[in-house]
Order: sequence, then structure tokens, then C-alpha cells
Amino acid sequence: MSAWVAERLVSLVPETMAPCGRQVKGWIIPIQPAAFGRLKAPLFGHYRSRPPQAQSGTNSCSFRYPRRQDHSLAISVAIGMEAVDAVVIGAGVVGLACARALAMRGCETVVLERHDAFGTETSARNSEVIHAGLYYPCGSLKARLCVEGNGLLYAFCATHGIEHRRCGKLIVATSAAHEAKLQELRTQGESNGVSGLELLSAGQVRALEPELRCTAALLSATTGIIDSHGLMLAICGDAERHGAVLALQSPFLRGSVGGKEILLEAGSTETMQLRSSIVVNAAGLDAQRVASLLDGFPAQHVPPRFLAKGNYYAHAARVPFSHLIYPVPEPGGLGVHLTLDLGGQARFGPDVEWITEADYAVAPDRAERFYSEVRRYWPALRDGGLAPAFCGIRPKISGPDDAATDFMIQGPETHGKPGLVNLFGIESPGLTSCLSIAEHVASLVL
Ligand SMILES: Cc1cc2nc3c(=O)[nH]c(=O)nc-3n(C[C@H](O)[C@H](O)[C@H](O)COP(=O)(O)OP(=O)(O)OC[C@H]3O[C@@H](n4cnc5c(N)ncnc54)[C@H](O)[C@@H]3O)c2cc1C
Repeated sequence: MSAWVAERLVSLVPETMAPCGRQVKGWIIPIQPAAFGRLKAPLFGHYRSRPPQAQSGTNSCSFRYPRRQDHSLAISVAIGMEAVDAVVIGAGVVGLACARALAMRGCETVVLERHDAFGTETSARNSEVIHAGLYYPCGSLKARLCVEGNGLLYAFCATHGIEHRRCGKLIVATSAAHEAKLQELRTQGESNGVSGLELLSAGQVRALEPELRCTAALLSATTGIIDSHGLMLAICGDAERHGAVLALQSPFLRGSVGGKEILLEAGSTETMQLRSSIVVNAAGLDAQRVASLLDGFPAQHVPPRFLAKGNYYAHAARVPFSHLIYPVPEPGGLGVHLTLDLGGQARFGPDVEWITEADYAVAPDRAERFYSEVRRYWPALRDGGLAPAFCGIRPKISGPDDAATDFMIQGPETHGKPGLVNLFGIESPGLTSCLSIAEHVASLVL
């Protein structure tokens, strides 16, 4: 880092930092300008806002920083740097995991995030399910990375103390046609390498879940739930320990590819220029826009973008189920399923609503359809039992009338631009697959 940047960074601190020792809600990661060598500084930034799933409070914390002589409180600043090994655009769960993987392989890595916190978009708006990997076609990236990611994620949870539960899920058939589909799903899952799949009769299901109505079910024992914010925090922490730097409020603005290095410009009121030999576009819903802003990137490699919103409705009272309950999948999504969070709160969703612009409002009247769908497998659902909760938006690369598509992970061998990886269409099971996607990305550029 140049002396100019280092000076500027230090000079920004006193103006923007919160008073030392103030009680702060959220996770704060200290910045230590004195220790800021050439990208060997600790990751900095702060986790200020609490996304929807965090509101029940399982993963927020409030603490007091010790008073220190140096500038020990976090701030959000745009930083300026000249040359780094790797830049990741987007600090969702996948971008953070990529930064961790690159940093752990010795790359000086910067993560650019446009918001003032990591993980506030799709990574904060999903079912928080650790999928087993049974739905996806054999040989697809989704199948491979989900099955691998499932194992990596459980191991990571164990070593990093992340709250999770291997609660299992039941995919329920409510008609003969559905029963045939269950058999297909089991075969598909087993060919993908999923373990712990078992077809259950109606009686066996009743023994597990007495209030569930179905004619048969497929039990997936390796499906579970996870505290996605705890996961992102732990991934971020690992990345920090390996020297990664998170630049919040630092939107990627434009760049160019094709030279020896990739050139990038980021920032809002102040901008910074970066040179890097590796760039990972993990911008989620905006990945196509980011790719289009890279001068020299061939337009034919930017896929179309479609948005499919998934609305959730919460069930205020406790539900009588201990497994996740899914119907057989529907076009565009996995069907209106019941998921439980780690606090035992139940929510139903997501449905599939095709939209053209990102919009996170949840319409109360869409709940009407949910009642009939949920009552197919839980007839005791009471009228008025569901309340609008939150929604997430699937970053799709195929439209409502198209066949489902795979993750599109483009490395240099696809588009011919050295050092660049684009991640398009990272919808479900992206959370489950974050660690395996990161391994895959690293293998494409290192
Ligand atoms: C309704 C729904 C339910 C889901 N359920 C599950 C599930 O149960 N299990 C599962 O495995 N997966 C699930 N998923 C999928 C999972 O949530 C996503 O695959 C995953 O969160 C994607 O992470 P990401 O980091 O790619 O994207 P994001 O979390 O969207 O992160 C992208 C980041 O890029 C930033 N960004 C964008 N543009 C710029 C820019 N110009 N400059 C800087 N930063 C930028 C954004 O601000 C954002 O922080 C679900 C998805 C949806 C929509």
C-alpha cells in the first residue's frame, strides 16, 4: 500500500469512529491502523444492521470494547490500494467463502461490498437449510457442490462452533403421482452421492410426525438447519486471520479485463483503484451488471437475469413438527415448505413470484394460496395462522418458461479472460454449497 493511502486511512479514523468504549449493538471488528502493513491488516468493517433472520436474536450480540490507546473501534471506510492478489466483489456468504479460500492460499485479498455490512442480501433472506443435494441432475455443479458443501459445512460448524441442527427433512407425497416422484428423487439423490435417504410408509411417517398427513414420504437424514449469520461471521473471521480485508460501502463501479492484470474502480463519494490478478464476481443479484461493467469482457458470456421472489409467512404458534417438511418440488422452486429456525420458530415458504426489479415487500394476500398448499400435508393449520415474514430473491439465469439451470461458474477457460471468475445464478443450494463453491473458484484461478 502506498504511503498516501496509509496516511489517508489513518486520517479518516478519528473523524468517523465511534467514541471508544461506547456500547455498540452488533459485531464490531477492530481496525488497527498502526498494524496496517501491505494488506496484512486485520479485516475491518462492522456488522451493524440485523437482517430479517437475525431479528429473533439468536446471533446478535452486544458488547463493550475495551478502551485502547490506538483507534480500536471499527469504522466503515472506503480504502485505497494499488495492487492486490485478489479482489472479491460482493460480501454475501459465497463471496466471503471465496475470500477465505483465496486468503488461506496466501493471496492478499480484498472484498468489496456496497452495503455497510456483509450478508444483507440473498444470504440473509433464505430458508437457512443445509441441503442434502438430492434434487439436482447428476453431474451438475449443483449436485456436486451441494453434496460436497453439505459435508464441508457440517465439519465447519463443528470446528467453528456454529449453531446448527441435523434435524432431517421429510418430502411428503399426498397422491399416487407424488409417490412415484419420491422414488425418482431417491434414485436421483443416491446417484448424486446423497446418503441417509429412506422411503417411509404413511404409518412410519405417523410415528415420526403424528400430525403430518401423507401417503408416503422420503426422509433425508443429512438435511439440517444453520445459523447463516453465525456462518458468515465465522467465515469472515477465518478470512481475517489470513489477512483478508473487507471494504464496506465500497461498490464496484467499473473495471477492465484483458491486460496482464484486472483493473477495478470502487467507492462512492471517494473512489479507489485496484490492480489485481484475480477477481471473483460474487455480486449475487447484480452479477450480470458487474460483468457488464468490465470493459473488455465479452457480452456473449453474460447470461440473462431473471428474478424469482420467494415469500415467507411465519406461523406464530409452535408447530407440532421436528423435521423440515417439504412437498414434492414445483417448477422454479422446492414448493411451499415448512422450515424451522434454530429457535423453533416455523415459517412457510418460499413461493415463486417472478418479478422484474428487486422488491422485498411481502404481500399479505399471497398467504391465501399458502393455506391450501400447506393443508395438503398439515390439515390442522388454522385460518389466520400465517403472517407475512420476509422474502428473498433468487438470482436466476433462466425464466419462468425455461428448464431449470445449473450454477454458472465461469473461469478463464470459459471466457478467455485470465484471473476472472464470474458466479451467475447462485440460487439455492448456494448457502449449503458456499465452501465447495469457494474451493472450486480457487481451483479455477490458482
Ligand atoms: C428464497 C430463497 C431461499 C433460499 N434457501 C436456501 C436454503 O435453504 N439453502 C441453501 O443452501 N440456499 C438457499 N438459498 C440460496 C442462497 O441464499 C444463495 O445461494 C446465497 O445466499 C447466495 O450468496 P451470494 O454471496 O452469492 O449472494 P448475496 O448474498 O446476494 O451477496 C451478493 C453481495 O454482492 C454485493 N454486491 C452486489 N453488487 C455489488 C457491487 N457493484 N459492488 C459491491 N458489492 C456488490 C451485494 O450487496 C451482496 O452483499 C435460497 C435463496 C432464496 C432466494
